[in-house]
This record gives sequence, structure tokens and C-alpha cells, in this order.
Amino acid sequence: MEMTPSSEICSVKVALHIRPLVADERLQGCKDCVSVVPRLPQVQIGTHSFTFDHVYGNGGAESSAMFEQCVAPLVDGLFQGYNATVLAYGQTGSGKTYTMGTGFKDGCQTGLIPQVMDTLFNKIETLKHQTEFQLHVSFIEILKEEVKDLLDSASESKSVVANGHPAKVAVPGKPAIQIREASNGVITLAGSTEVAVSTLQEMAACLEKGSLSRATGSTNMNNQSSRSHAIFTITLEQMRKLHSVSPVNDTPDEDMGEEYFCAKLHLVDLAGSERAKRTGTGGLRLKEGIHINKGLLALGNVISALGDEKKQKEGMHVPYRDSKLTRLLQDSLGGNSKTVSLHQSC
Ligand code: ADP
Ligand code: MG
Repeated sequence: MEMTPSSEICSVKVALHIRPLVADERLQGCKDCVSVVPRLPQVQIGTHSFTFDHVYGNGGAESSAMFEQCVAPLVDGLFQGYNATVLAYGQTGSGKTYTMGTGFKDGCQTGLIPQVMDTLFNKIETLKHQTEFQLHVSFIEILKEEVKDLLDSASESKSVVANGHPAKVAVPGKPAIQIREASNGVITLAGSTEVAVSTLQEMAACLEKGSLSRATGSTNMNNQSSRSHAIFTITLEQMRKLHSVSPVNDTPDEDMGEEYFCAKLHLVDLAGSERAKRTGTGGLRLKEGIHINKGLLALGNVISALGDEKKQKEGMHVPYRDSKLTRLLQDSLGGNSKTVSLHQSC
């Protein structure tokens, strides 16, 4: 979603990213079923065509174009005080985690989040002579409408082995993380770990730690990471000293006070978009499936409400409160914010 700063009107920006066939699929003789229409942001599946704001095929150059066109402007916006959200949406196996960079494979970081971090620190480097920066990172997971802290060291030591696989247990006595809304509309996560970072390496370490914590216990396609939403949030605070400029020699003159900005960027690896009945045969799995759909369903409703310019003008109610996911993203989806939704396809 992108908002013109001078207006209250939001529009949703949706990009489609098509991953290449993986080795197993090639071995099984699978063929690409999605074809990109040349020179149009459009794809064809059989006789149906679908149009997006952007379509990216599966080449490496396409992935960097996706970052440049869809995500880099949101990083720039952070420096102007705009909150933003990037959502990766798609079925399990379509490439959300790979594209976002929330899966940590063989110690190698690829994906949008590492590119965001590079861009962010390069920009800070060019501005740090005139501005003081403070960065914080949080990394949480929402599973079954419960918020889990992926950066909490205390819960790490509580890892146990269940059914031959490592798993986490809740730390007794630790209060649940709560989503709070301040009177100015700012959303905070009370009780979650906010790590202060000052270097690219420190931020990358947070991504690695949370990604590894998320992967613990994963066994198959029905693993936790396909049923939960993972949200990596970067908060950027800026303090800029204001000076009047001397008319004589163009050098900073009188101290005019300070300018303060605070903005955050949420990078979200959503739960798999497959329907509840595909997530299991019933019982607990079905319950989890229904909860996942609650977040995705609420997100769909919020985005369509925000994307409807007419309804926005009429001040229509946006149903943020229907799920933890939409409550948490509330101040970074509408109002002072920009959002890009990346649809993953395979
Ligand atoms: P999801 O998170 O949507 O369930 P994953 O990110 O785990 O999907 O991707 C599924 C598989 O596809 C993984 O084996 C991953 O390595 C591979 N994959 C995804 N995107 C790409 C890509 N752009 N290039 C190469 N392999 C990819
Ligand atoms: Mg995944």
C-alpha cells in the first residue's frame, strides 16, 4: 500500500514473485504453469490472466529489481518518518521464507531482509554526520493467536527434545507479550525483546537468531513456520540538529533545536495461504488452521478496506481488531504508512 503524504488515501501495491522449480520438482518432471506476459505486469495460468502492480520472474536480476522497485522506496520512507510493511503471501512451498530471508540456511543470508539491512546501514553512513540514529529490532511469531518472542534468550535455554526433535517450551511465570495501542495510535509490543543494534552485523545476528529459533521443531510441510506469521521489525529513530545557515558563508549558524522522527518497517513472512483442510485431518491441526485463517482473513479484510478509496473517504471502519496480526500491524498499514504485498507463486 502506498500513501501520498499529502492525502489520506491509500492504495495497495501488490507484486507477484515466481520462484524457479526446485530440484525435486524438476526430477519429478514438473513444468512451470505460470507464464509471464511480456512487457505487462500480468501472468497467465491456462486460460486465466491475472494483473498485478509488478510481476517478477525467477531470475536473479528479477529479485534485485523487486527489491529496488518495491522495497528500497520503503527504506527511504523510514528516513522521512513513514512506517511501512512488506507482506509475503502464498502457499507453503511458494518461496515466502526464501524471498523474505527469514529462513537461515547453511549460515547464508539471502532475501529481502538482508538487502534492507544493507541499504539501511549504507544510508545511515552517508547521513550520520548530521543526524543521530538509534535502531531497534524485534522478531516475533504469531501462532494460534499467541505472540512468541523469537529473540528471547530465556526461552532458548528451555529447549527440550520431543519426539526426537528439539522443541521449545513456554517459560513459566513469564507474562504473555501484549499488543498495546497508545493514545497517539502508536502500537507497541509490551514484553517483547527489543534489541538495540548499531551495526549491520548486530542486526544480522538478530535475524539469524530468530530464524534459527523459528526453525526449531520444524519437521515437514505442516511445520510451525508454515502455520505461523513471522514479523521482523526494524525501528529507526532519528534526531537531527537544526541550524539556520549563515547568509555570509553558507555554514551552519544559530542552533534552531532538534527534529525527531521515529518510524518502523515490518517485514512479514505470513503463514501459508492454503486452506484449513489442507493443514491436517482435524483436531488440533484443524484448530491451528482456523487460527491462521483468522489472521490472514483479517488481513485481507483490512487491506481491502484500506484499498477502497471511496470507503476511506467516507471514514469506513477498518477491522484491525479482528486478529493479533492486524492489531500489531495497525499503525503500519494505514495512515502514515506504505505497504507492499508480495504474492509468492511457484
Ligand atoms: P514458503 O516459506 O513459502 O513455505 P520456502 O521459502 O521455504 O517456501 O521455499 C520452498 C522451497 O523453494 C525451498 O526449498 C527454497 O529453497 C526454494 N526456493 C524458494 N524461492 C526460491 C528462489 N527464488 N530461488 C531458488 N529456490 C527457491
Ligand atoms: Mg516458510
